[in-house]
Amino acid sequence: MFSQFLSKTNLLPRAHLVAVAACSTLVLIVALWPSQGQSVVVEVPAQIVVPEPEEVVEQAPGYSVTEEVQSGDTLSSVFERAGAGVSILYRLIANDDIKKPIEKIFPGQEFTFKFDDQDALVQVNFNATPLLSYQIDIDEDKNGQISKLEKTPEIHTKYATARIDDSLFMAGMEAGLSDNMIMQLATIFGWDIDFVLDIREGDEFSLLYEENYLDGEKLSDGPIIAARFMNRGREITAIRYTDESGRTDYFAPNGDSMRKAFLRTPMDVFRISSSFNPNRRHPVLNKIVAHKGTDYAAPVGTPIKATGDGKIIKAYYSSTYGNVVIIQHGAGIRTLYAHMSKFSKYSRVGNRIKQGQVIGYVGATGRVTGAHLHYEFQVHGVHKNPQTVDLPNAQPLATEYLGDFEQYASNVVGQLGVYDQAYAQKKLIAFE
Ligand SMILES: [Zn+2]
Repeated sequence: MFSQFLSKTNLLPRAHLVAVAACSTLVLIVALWPSQGQSVVVEVPAQIVVPEPEEVVEQAPGYSVTEEVQSGDTLSSVFERAGAGVSILYRLIANDDIKKPIEKIFPGQEFTFKFDDQDALVQVNFNATPLLSYQIDIDEDKNGQISKLEKTPEIHTKYATARIDDSLFMAGMEAGLSDNMIMQLATIFGWDIDFVLDIREGDEFSLLYEENYLDGEKLSDGPIIAARFMNRGREITAIRYTDESGRTDYFAPNGDSMRKAFLRTPMDVFRISSSFNPNRRHPVLNKIVAHKGTDYAAPVGTPIKATGDGKIIKAYYSSTYGNVVIIQHGAGIRTLYAHMSKFSKYSRVGNRIKQGQVIGYVGATGRVTGAHLHYEFQVHGVHKNPQTVDLPNAQPLATEYLGDFEQYASNVVGQLGVYDQAYAQKKLIAFE
C-alpha cells in the first residue's frame, strides 16, 4: 500500500525518527481507520525515500532457463534438466569456492541458467534464500567465477491494538497479528500474566512491531518494539532495548527486566498433583506431615528445568527424596527437585547452571506413590509455596545505560500512546 524505506530512516537519531513518525501519522490514521470493530493494525509511516533509478544493463543475445529444486534433486539432475549438462558442472565444482555454497541444495531453491545464442552456458544464478544468492559467471575457457549477492530486507513498523473477548490468541488473530507475533507477545508478558487464568473480557493490548519486507512482500516477522497490556485494570508496559554491551531484552519503563529470576514451574507440561500444604496427611505414611513443596505429575522421563541461575550444591540419592538436586541461587534462595528418574549431565555438584537448563528427568524414585516431581522453593531456609511465592525480577538494566534507555523508552512509549489515543478517540466517535 505505502512503499516505505524505514531501514534508511533507522539511521536517523531515534528521537528524531520518533518525532517524524508521530507527527506525520495522524492524517493517515483517519484514512486507514476501520469504521467499527475492536482491533486494528496500521502501518507506521516513515519518511519516504526516493529509490535510486535502476541501472540499465545491456542484455547480450541469448536465453535463460529457470529450474526449481525438487525433492530428490542433485546438482547433476538440475543441470541436466536445464540443458546445461554435467560436464560443465564438474568443471565448475572442481573450484572449492564455487562448490561450497552450492553443494547442498533444498527443494524450493532456484537456479537460473543463462545461455548465449550459441547455447553456451555463460552464467548460473543460485537463489539460496530470498536474501542470499550466488552468481557464477563462466568465461570462454569454461572457468567460473562466483560472487555472493545479499539483499537487506526493508523494515516496516506497524501498530496493532485489540480488546480481548475470548483469548489472547483470538484477539491477536483479529488484529491481524501472525501466530509468531502473538507468541512473542505472550512470551514478553507471560512472566506477569497467566494467559489461561488471568485474562478477563475487556483486557486490552497494543504494540509497535517490525516486519521484514523484500520487493514489496512480507518476508518475516521482526521483533516487538514496545507493547502495553491492560490486564484486569493493571497496565504493564514493555520496551525492547539493546544496551551498549549488546544485551537485548524487554524492560519496564524504569529499567526493570520483564523476566523473573525464576520460572514459576520447572516443567512446561504437568498437572499439579499436590500443592504446598503445612498440614497435609501424607499419602504413604498416613499421618500429618507438612508438604513443603509442590508436586507436578508428569510422565517418567519428562525433562526438568532449573528454575533460576545458580550452582548445584547437592545431587544425590535419598530414601525419601530419591534422586534429588539442590540448587543454590542468589539472595539466599534454594530450589530442590526430588524423585527424578535420572540426573542430566549438568547435575554435578559445583556446576554453574542457567535458568531453563535441564537438570534431570521425572521419575518415581524414593518414597512416592507415582511418577512426579517434588519441587521446593526455600528463602533463607524457610519453605515457600512455589505456586504463589513472589518471584524476584531478573537482572535489571545496568545503571550506566539507564539514562539512554529512559530517553528512548519515553519516546517509544510516547509514540505508542499517540496511536492508542487516536484509536480510543476514534472509537468514541464510532459509538455515537
Ligand atoms: Zn511432594
